[in-house]
Amino acid sequence: MIVDRQGRRFRNLRVSLTAACNYACTYCVPDGKRLVAAQDELSADAMLRGVAYLIEAAGIERVRITGGEPLVSPKLDAFLRGVSQLGLADISLTSNAQLLTRKLPLLLECGIHRLNISLDTLDAAAFRGIARSGDLATVLDGLQQASAAGLQLKINMVPLRGQNLDQVLPMLDYCLANGFELRFIELMRMGHLARDPNAFQRQFVGMPELLAMIGQRYAYSQAVAPLDATALRYEIPGLGFFGVIANESVPFCRTCSRLRLSSSGWLHGCLSSSNRHYVGDLLDKPRHQALPALQGMLVKALADKQDVAFTGGATVMKIIGG
Ligand code: SAM
Repeated sequence: MIVDRQGRRFRNLRVSLTAACNYACTYCVPDGKRLVAAQDELSADAMLRGVAYLIEAAGIERVRITGGEPLVSPKLDAFLRGVSQLGLADISLTSNAQLLTRKLPLLLECGIHRLNISLDTLDAAAFRGIARSGDLATVLDGLQQASAAGLQLKINMVPLRGQNLDQVLPMLDYCLANGFELRFIELMRMGHLARDPNAFQRQFVGMPELLAMIGQRYAYSQAVAPLDATALRYEIPGLGFFGVIANESVPFCRTCSRLRLSSSGWLHGCLSSSNRHYVGDLLDKPRHQALPALQGMLVKALADKQDVAFTGGATVMKIIGG
């Protein structure tokens, strides 16, 4: 097992199935143009071999499928069916839920029980302003159907000053009422926001401000979370839970166990590092050739992790999927 001097190792793999997305969220894409798949994206088979090799070489236990938007990928069927056969402890998926109703039977068939859904507002006009595409009613309908089918849902919201701060309490009320766990993600200095500190500061809302807003309506207390969890978790007694992924306010680099595989075959050991390691060619090789080379890449990827705090990254979320 590859472990660094802080005792960190890769346990959780995020696989970006495609860079294509049917939204163009303001914090992810600066120019509002929807993203298309990269020309050099790997096949579903190559990505599945990648996951299988990384389970062996790095000790990956859990996989989260992301993007881009994973539900738009033509590889989704084959990848889901294959990944569900790899004996992982947990497989989950992150999506904007625009196509959730249509893909629900496939997700259920492949044994996906947990979804993280990105939803930044319940206000239709603000939704269009942030996502710059999609339809709020379709998303809300998809959430109801997924929940009725027994899927466990977490909702990710990025609070943005001037765009959806008035939605913090309505979103929390909605999630508590529906049994969804809301997770506030502090805005991250990624891509264009890493290059434009003023734009970042203008929109950033930190955990203390969020907790103060929530405290005006609800009494809450800190709840237990796994050691390598990204979210600080809180319980509102009798009503449910919410979390804050406080990249800036309470950095979690010291316990980070995440590894990312992009749809074009690059390994990323850290969102805050511009280093990446190409493994696409290794995935065509037989196991006995691929694994030793992959281990060398993993040592480098683990060394890319920040010691203490996220400092920003040139990489755009759309490529590696958060
Ligand atoms: N399309 C899928 C979705 O919407 O969930 C998966 C990919 S999306 C890039 C994954 C997550 O990254 C979303 O929850 C999104 O809100 C978050 N995200 C993207 N850019 C971000 C940024 N600069 N700061 C914080 N969160 C960001």
